[in-house]
Amino acid sequence: MSIAGSIDQAVDRAKEKDCDTFQIFTRNPRGWKLKKLSRGDVAGFRQKLKNSAIDPPVAHMPYLPNLSCPKKGLHKKSVRTLTLELERCNVLDIPYLVTHLGSHLGKGREVGLGQLTQAIDAAFETSKGRTMLLLENTSGTRNSMGSSFEDIREILDHVSQKDRVAVCFDTAHAFGAGYDLRNVESVQRTVDELRRVVGLGLLKVIHANDSKGELGSGIDRHEHIGMGYIGEEGFKAILHNDSLRKLPLILETPIDRRGTDVTNLRRLRELAS
Ligand code: ZN
Ligand code: MN
Ligand code: MN
Repeated sequence: MSIAGSIDQAVDRAKEKDCDTFQIFTRNPRGWKLKKLSRGDVAGFRQKLKNSAIDPPVAHMPYLPNLSCPKKGLHKKSVRTLTLELERCNVLDIPYLVTHLGSHLGKGREVGLGQLTQAIDAAFETSKGRTMLLLENTSGTRNSMGSSFEDIREILDHVSQKDRVAVCFDTAHAFGAGYDLRNVESVQRTVDELRRVVGLGLLKVIHANDSKGELGSGIDRHEHIGMGYIGEEGFKAILHNDSLRKLPLILETPIDRRGTDVTNLRRLRELAS
C-alpha cells in the first residue's frame, strides 16, 4: 500500500480496497534518504489503524540495504537502515518487518551468513522494540542468501535474540527456488518440508504472488494470481491448506492492463472460498 501524501493514508487506502491486512514501505524503498516521522504522522497512523479492523499491518525493508554484504561500508549502512526501520515499525505499532537476506556478492555462503547474523544482532542490540523481523525466502538468484528452507533455518539458528525473528514465506520466490506449489499434493509436500525444517510456528506472513518464472528457474518475477506458473489450481491448494490459509496474505502482484490489487484480491478470495 502506498504511503504517498502521509503514512496514515496507507490505512485509508487499505480500507478502501477492503483489505484486512496490508504491507507498506515506511519510506522510499529505492533510496537511502529518509524523512523522520513526525509526531503527527505517527499519531495519525496509529489512530487510523486502531479504528480499523486491519490486523496485522506489515512493513518491508527498503531495497538498497544488503545485510549479507562483505563490504564494510555498505554493510554498515545496511545495519543502520535495519535499525532505523525496526524503530519506525515500533513507534508505528507495526508488529512485523519483512527483510530480504541479501547477497554475499560471490564471497560464499559462510561469509554471507556471518555478515547477516552480525547485522541482525547489531540492529537488535540498538533497537529494543517489539517488532519482529521476518526473514523472507528468496528465489535463488545468484549469490543470494536464504533460498532454501535449510538456509533460513541456519540463519535463524545463528541469530542471538531468537524470539525476535520469524519467517515470511513468498510463494513466487519458493516456486522459483524449486518448491512446487501447483496442486494439492505439491503444496502439502512443500508445507511439510517447511514444517520439518523451519517449523510452522515461525511462519507469520505469506507473500501471495504467482510466478513468471518456471519451477526452479531462480527467477524472481511476480505475476497476477492464477496467471503464472503456480496457477489457479496452485493458489486454490495454497488457500485451502489449513496451515497457510489462516495467515495474513500480502499481494505483491503487478499492476497493469491485466489486473490490479483489487482484481488479485478478488481472485484470492474466490479461490479461498
Ligand atoms: Zn520482499
Ligand atoms: Mn515478497
Ligand atoms: Mn520478489
